[in-house]
Amino acid sequence: MTLSTTVPTVKLLINGEFVESQTSVWRDVVNPATQEVLARVPMATPAEVDAAVAAAKTAFKSWKKTSIGSRARIFLKYQQLIREHMKELAAILTAEQGKTLADAEGDVFRGLEVVEHAASIGNLQLGEYAENVASGVDTYSVLQPLGVCAGITPFNFPAMIPLWMFPMAIATGNTFVLKPSEQDPMVTMRLVELAIEAGIPAGVLNVVHGGPDVVNAICDHADIKAISFVGSSKVGTHVYNRASLAGKRVQCMMGAKNHAIVLPDANKEQALNQLTGAAFGAAGQRCMALSVAVLVGEAKNWIPELVAKAKALRVGPGKDNPDVGPLVSCTARDRVESLIAQGVEQGAKLELDGRGVKVPGFEQGNFVGPTIFSGVKPGMAIYDQEIFGPVLCLTAADTLDQAIELINANPNGNGTAIFTQSGAAARKFQEEIDVGQVGINVPIPVPVPLFSFTGSRASKLGDLGPYGKQVVLFYTQTKTVTSRWFDDAASSGKVNTTISLN
Ligand code: NAD
Repeated sequence: MTLSTTVPTVKLLINGEFVESQTSVWRDVVNPATQEVLARVPMATPAEVDAAVAAAKTAFKSWKKTSIGSRARIFLKYQQLIREHMKELAAILTAEQGKTLADAEGDVFRGLEVVEHAASIGNLQLGEYAENVASGVDTYSVLQPLGVCAGITPFNFPAMIPLWMFPMAIATGNTFVLKPSEQDPMVTMRLVELAIEAGIPAGVLNVVHGGPDVVNAICDHADIKAISFVGSSKVGTHVYNRASLAGKRVQCMMGAKNHAIVLPDANKEQALNQLTGAAFGAAGQRCMALSVAVLVGEAKNWIPELVAKAKALRVGPGKDNPDVGPLVSCTARDRVESLIAQGVEQGAKLELDGRGVKVPGFEQGNFVGPTIFSGVKPGMAIYDQEIFGPVLCLTAADTLDQAIELINANPNGNGTAIFTQSGAAARKFQEEIDVGQVGINVPIPVPVPLFSFTGSRASKLGDLGPYGKQVVLFYTQTKTVTSRWFDDAASSGKVNTTISLN
């Protein structure tokens, strides 16, 4: 790993102070379009992780007692600050992550929606009340914060995913330790600075950087009560098992292989446009990217038009707002290219090859152009693995039933979509498909925060999803209180040794 010493360092946030790490292990943050080193990020020491958790633990004592209105007003201010800094945030994000500026704004915006939702916490964290559960006895429930919670985030949405986590955790009365992706921590840190500017008190939000050692320290730490993880299935499964063993509440949103069904009665132009955008947008580095299309019946004749649309996409540096930016790292590019080679070796038909694409002036960039395979089958590496690059696998089915069967046999359950003009077909698909997020003529059905992100099966561990109603339950403990008040006059009675309240 190359290390530069003349670039800015990414700071830790501990107890309200942005501080330089004392570690000896650093990693470069690299612009994927140019290989320019933008910053150095520390792998925090065990003592720094402990200090961040200790600050959060101390801050919890007062933060949990802060009024709902005070908490909500911080997020009202925060959403305003994010809006005001949208262009700046998008530019930082594009430089370190690679996605186009327009898509970077989308990344920030989808996180902003969660911040707006956090501002309405007063309506979300309500308990229940039942009068006279026994004569003169009432029961009510309250949703109390857990304590110190932690978040571990992936590289592909460095704005949206941190914003899935700390705003709702903090709005519900918890304190937080965030561990951003070490590949692109800069936009996350700018968002954290704005959160502090919005009024989040010292110790309520802390940030440590690092890789596996820091993640393991978070999983094991006795003072952390809950962990939200978003990333690959391999790491997420590890985090879920390790942190659950340590007694924590854990939610892990993980890898995917999202299929779209294209029925021959679909609006062809719309279906092909949506499919192309969802397969190749963000260079395929979305957990909700459509990476497999099942062409049913006559729809398999649409391959030449699909290839033509993919071919027309412009590949280039994100700052120029092309259609497809670079992959996040040279390693990611090499992995995607190797999977394309395996697809050819294993007998899939390469309809469009994006390897070796040339972007004048950006010869060092990690570019792979849109790539399409047809004749893809389970058992091929390109079908079985999440490619996480601009590669679309096409397969064919004779009927809707066959297509549904194929998708339900795939272990992943993050997202799926159907393209059709038939209400009956869509209704059948919605009912029978075993995937947690379903789009009907909507290629990337990520719910807005009035709902929750509901990936399922191998794409998710833990019952409750991030943001929305479910995350209020994730970040709180339900306490029920059963109470009876005696009239001063009620002085008669006797000892009751039964379990009845009467
Ligand atoms: P990743 O699993 O490599 O990294 C995620 C986090 O885990 C990072 O913070 C990283 O530092 C840490 N980490 C990496 N290796 C580790 C190890 N061996 N032990 C402990 N911690 C480790 O994921 P990524 O490559 O950054 O992100 C891409 C993946 O995330 C894809 O699989 C994608 O599908 C998934 N993802 C899922 C969702 C969802 O909502 N389901 C959303 C976005 C991304």
